[in-house]
Parts: sequence; C-alpha cells; structure tokens
Amino acid sequence: MDLTDHIREIPDFPKPGILFRDITPLLAHPEALCYTVDLLAEQVADLKPDYIAGIESRGFIFGVPLAYRMSIGFAPVRKPGKLPAATHTAEYALEYGTDRLELHQDAFRPGSRVLIVDDLIATGGTAAATVKLIEKTGSEVAGFGFIIELTGLAGRDKLPDLPIISLLQY
Ligand code: AMP
Repeated sequence: MDLTDHIREIPDFPKPGILFRDITPLLAHPEALCYTVDLLAEQVADLKPDYIAGIESRGFIFGVPLAYRMSIGFAPVRKPGKLPAATHTAEYALEYGTDRLELHQDAFRPGSRVLIVDDLIATGGTAAATVKLIEKTGSEVAGFGFIIELTGLAGRDKLPDLPIISLLQY
C-alpha cells in the first residue's frame, strides 16, 4: 500500500508558505489506518519500549492504537495547563517566541523505556522538548516513531543519537 495516496497536501495552512500534510484522509480509510499502525508497530518492535509518549494532539491519534497493538502503556504529552496532576515542563522555540509542553511526573515507572510518537517531524523542536520531559521523569527514551518526516528541515539533527523511525519521507 502506498500511504502517500492518503496524505493530503494543503498549501498555506495554517499560514502562508507552509505546506500542511493532512493525515485525516488516512484516518478515514480503514485499510490505510490499520496498515499504518501495524507497520509502525513492526518497525519499532526491536526498541522494546515499555510506554509510548504521544505528543498533543496528533501523536495521541497514532500513539494510543500503537500502544494497544504493542500491549504497552501510553502517556500524553500536553500543552500547558491541561494535565491535572503534578507535571514536568519543557520549553521549546517556535518561529516567534517559545511554547511549553508538560508531562505528568508519575507518567512512567522509573527506569522505563519510552518511545516518542507524533504524526510528523518537521524542525524536531517538539520531539526534542519531549526528550527533556521524559528524562526529567527518570525514564529513558527508546527512540522515535513518526508517520511523516520532512527531511529538508533536518529535524533528526536536533534529536539524540537514538533510532528514529519514519514511515514516509518528503
Ligand atoms: P516540529 O517541532 O517543527 O518538528 O513540528 C512538529 C509538529 O508540528 C508536529 O506535531 C506536527 O504535527 C506539526 N507540523 C509541523 N509542520 C507540519 C506540516 N507541514 N504539516 C503538518 N503538521 C506539521
């Protein structure tokens, strides 16, 4: 199956000059959705994660079925002010200014291996901030799983030297 058939390109969203890779056609297509989750599960199996950390919000969409498929746990990495219990915080740079991500302090059993999941890696800033959050919990990052990688933005270079799996490269 060619997954690119199920990714829609929307020019100038959410702002001029950005070519948005829209995964909603893939989500709406039962075979493509199953294939995507199964393929990602197969490619990350060797990393032997104990948990998946899914990045708000499209990392939740793929992270939870992946965790279910792998029979492991899931924790949400969220925008500020959304998580109810005590959190760790990590800041990351945006084009203009900074943003923050949060993770529950007790998200993982200490010493666990955690796979970071999102729909897409662009500059890598979001995933790099998630690495810092996981390290603050006393667990280790096992690697990364993305559906899409925008290779021209060299997001990989911002991440530690760990396995990075992406199903589609643009
Ligand atoms: P970055 O921190 O630059 O790697 O950006 C990654 C985050 O922004 C992910 O959560 C993506 O969902 C979103 N994102 C960045 N660029 C795009 C794009 N061209 N199309 C769709 N989502 C994007």
